[in-house]
Order: sequence, then structure tokens, then C-alpha cells
Amino acid sequence: MHFTEPVYRNPYWPTWPLLEVTRGCTHNKCAFCTMYKGVRFGVAPMDEVEADLAEIATMTPHARTIQLLSANPLVLSFDKMAPILEKIREYLPDMEHVYAAGRVTDLRNKTVEQLRHLRELGLNEISMGTESGNDWTLDRIHKGYHASDIVEQCAKLDEAGIAYWHTFLNGVAGRSHSREHALHSAEIFNQTHPIVVGTGGLTLFPGTPLLADAERGAFDPLTEREMMEEELLFVENLECDSAFITHHTIGGAILTGPDFLGRKEQIVAALKHELEHADMDLLAWRRAQKQTL
Ligand code: SF4
Repeated sequence: MHFTEPVYRNPYWPTWPLLEVTRGCTHNKCAFCTMYKGVRFGVAPMDEVEADLAEIATMTPHARTIQLLSANPLVLSFDKMAPILEKIREYLPDMEHVYAAGRVTDLRNKTVEQLRHLRELGLNEISMGTESGNDWTLDRIHKGYHASDIVEQCAKLDEAGIAYWHTFLNGVAGRSHSREHALHSAEIFNQTHPIVVGTGGLTLFPGTPLLADAERGAFDPLTEREMMEEELLFVENLECDSAFITHHTIGGAILTGPDFLGRKEQIVAALKHELEHADMDLLAWRRAQKQTL
């Protein structure tokens, strides 16, 4: 198999098979991320993709799911992506779900009709590191798009029938814009139809511009308590009929089925309980141990 480190996969998807169709990230500019800093973006040659598919077919000939690598394989044009999906079908005829990560901007170069065709070829679930629905925050962290782009591109996915995930990056606006980040993210996500909303708290990793800004006083990171308060505000205003994942609680993650609205009161109560009872020093210590996103 051809794999270029780092290999990041969606932990909520089956761990295998994974197929490298791109390497690295086309954007590589988000102020909180160093994951692909040392990797030059590249597209895997078709003969390598095919060799890997042949190997996967030997090991798991009846595979029904597959994750495409790496950060944003969705950037591939329709003309490049469609043949890859056709090859997947050829080698893995039982394939039902092809998953890929992507940036909101990756959808701009595809029409609804092309997206629908990709879905018919098996690409039926994508996750977008959306992070925020607040324009100030999106600019501050150099995401390279605005809230209106999220709504516009997600409407195309809805029309094409491709399911998608959003992430809310809790804490990434710092103290000055925490409230706007929470409220606008909920407001923008509410205008879309994700199957999952995931949230995770910001960790300032060595080498990130955001950590450098924090060290010179140009970014005001939230405490664990403030992050939880921001998340609570986000959740209270979120109206997506989706699954919901968060890693904030001290005992582990809150992970729901596709019934966020039905369980919203419980989730709000759980977050309030954590705000009262969680050991914030322990949460801060745990965050400090994290090595990667
Ligand atoms: S967060 Fe995602 S889009 Fe941004 S630089 Fe990292 S991998 Fe690329």
C-alpha cells in the first residue's frame, strides 16, 4: 500500500480500508494546524491507486466502506475523481460507502450534476472541517472561505444527495469573539443539513501561528471553562437534525444518534453539569498532553 505520513482518518469510520488518492493538504494555511506542514500536496498516480485497490481486494474483497486520503481529496476535479470511483467499484464490487474529507472550497469546482454523478458512483459521505460560521473567525484562522460559502456549497451537497459532517472548533476565536463564533456557527449550520455536527476544543500545538500569536499576546485563548461555556452557547442555538459528537466531558465524548434535537435538552444538561463539576485543571492537563488534532 502507498501511504504518505501523516495518515489521518475519521475515527468514527471503519479503520480499514483506506486509499491514498491525494497527499497532504492543498490549503495548508489554517492558523491552528500543522498536520501537513512538511508534506507537499500531490495527487496519487492512477497506477498506484490501482495497485492499492488490487491489494485491498486481496485482503478484503467484500469491503463495503472505504476512506479516501488525505486532507482534502475532494479537491480533485470531477474528471479526476470519477475514474477513481469507477476503479473502486471495479476492484471492490460490494462497495456501498465512499468517504472523503474536504474543504468547503473544494466543492466550488463541481456542479450539482457532477456531485450527483459522484454520489451515484459511490461517494456518499464527506466531512468538512468547517470550524466556524463567523466571518471574523474564519478570516482570523485563515480558512480561506466565508460563512456564505458554507451555505452555498452545502446546498449543492443537499441537492446532490451527498451527506456531510460539520465541525465546530470550540475556542478558535479566542476570548474577543467567542460569543460571535458560537452564535454565528449555530446560525450558519442551521441553514444546512449535516448528518453529523462534531465539536472539539482548540489545542495550541507547537509550530502553529495561533500559538505564536498567543505567546506575543495577539491571541487570547479560552480557559477550559470558557470553552465549555462557548460550546454550551453553540449547542443551545444549534437546530440541526443530525448526530452530535463532542469530546468535552470529563468522562469521554457525548455521542448521539441522528437525533440531536430530541436529545438537545439532555446534552445541554450534561454540559451544565460538567461546567459545575468537571475538574478544569485535569481537562487542561489532558489537553496539554495532546500531540495532534
Ligand atoms: S485544518 Fe485542514 S484545511 Fe486547514 S491546513 Fe489543516 S488539513 Fe489543511
